[in-house]
Amino acid sequence: MDKKEECEIVKDLAVQYIEKSLNGGSQNFVKNHLETCENCRKYYKTIEDTVCNENEQDKMIKKQFKKVHKRINILKIILVVILIIILIAGLVVWYKEATFSNLVNKVSEKVEYMESLDNYKITVKTINKDFKKESNSWEFEETYYYKNGKLKSESNQSIFFNEDDSYDSISVFYDSQSIYYEHSNYVRQKKGSAVGVFSYIKENYKPIASTIYSLAFSVREDRFNGIECYVIRFGDRNSYRDIWVDKNTYITVREVNESYSHFYNERVFTFEENVVTDADVDSSILNLEEYNDYTKMEVNTKIPQEQVEIIDAINAQ
Ligand SMILES: [Zn+2]
Repeated sequence: MDKKEECEIVKDLAVQYIEKSLNGGSQNFVKNHLETCENCRKYYKTIEDTVCNENEQDKMIKKQFKKVHKRINILKIILVVILIIILIAGLVVWYKEATFSNLVNKVSEKVEYMESLDNYKITVKTINKDFKKESNSWEFEETYYYKNGKLKSESNQSIFFNEDDSYDSISVFYDSQSIYYEHSNYVRQKKGSAVGVFSYIKENYKPIASTIYSLAFSVREDRFNGIECYVIRFGDRNSYRDIWVDKNTYITVREVNESYSHFYNERVFTFEENVVTDADVDSSILNLEEYNDYTKMEVNTKIPQEQVEIIDAINAQ
């Protein structure tokens, strides 16, 4: 092998030599040649610089790639966390909305059932407090007896007799010792009217159940007079309305309406089925001796025809 041939072989092996991928013999052969050949040493120097540069560039690219990869991983984690938060929020919203709607629907169904009954007694105990005026606090209790179309509502101040689909009614006032026999041109009462005291949820909450407004309400569990209740709260920092619903019967047992430092209003309800007797709703008691001194008056309470039509339309609902 002459010098020129050797130089050529050594040049061919440059990259493998620099990367140290030659076998021991070849490695030594190149090493020995380089020690004696200036020309090849120069050539190797340039190749070495190039290879090193390439390695450097490789390293830089790898480093940058790693950086980008790391960022993508962080983004992935953030995305997953966001998705989990959205999922949990969605579940909370769904649960709240479902709990509220379900309760409102059950209470409303119960009210419709109560309206269809023929014999029941209702008591409503009202407590009112005006925080601004100490003297403006009062309590009031009213009892409704309903049997087969006849209704008597009674308090310690008055008695009212009404009948389903009737144009007439009787009012008795203890204070003024007077009895009014009223004759109207509109129907004073439809079946189930007395159950109206339980209708707050049905009339006000049912239309918004299953909508986004459900989220304005919270439902908690609590106990009132030994009754396990759901408490539906609608309120803010200044006021609230709590409606207490018997967990077993879905009948409203209490309503509290408070405006902090302004007023407090509470109504406590009881509902009993099949306890009313004929005597409870009999207006002929007014013929008893104790009413002899009462002033008795026949009163016509006629209203304009267009108002009658409005009342009829409401009654027809
Ligand atoms: Zn050489």
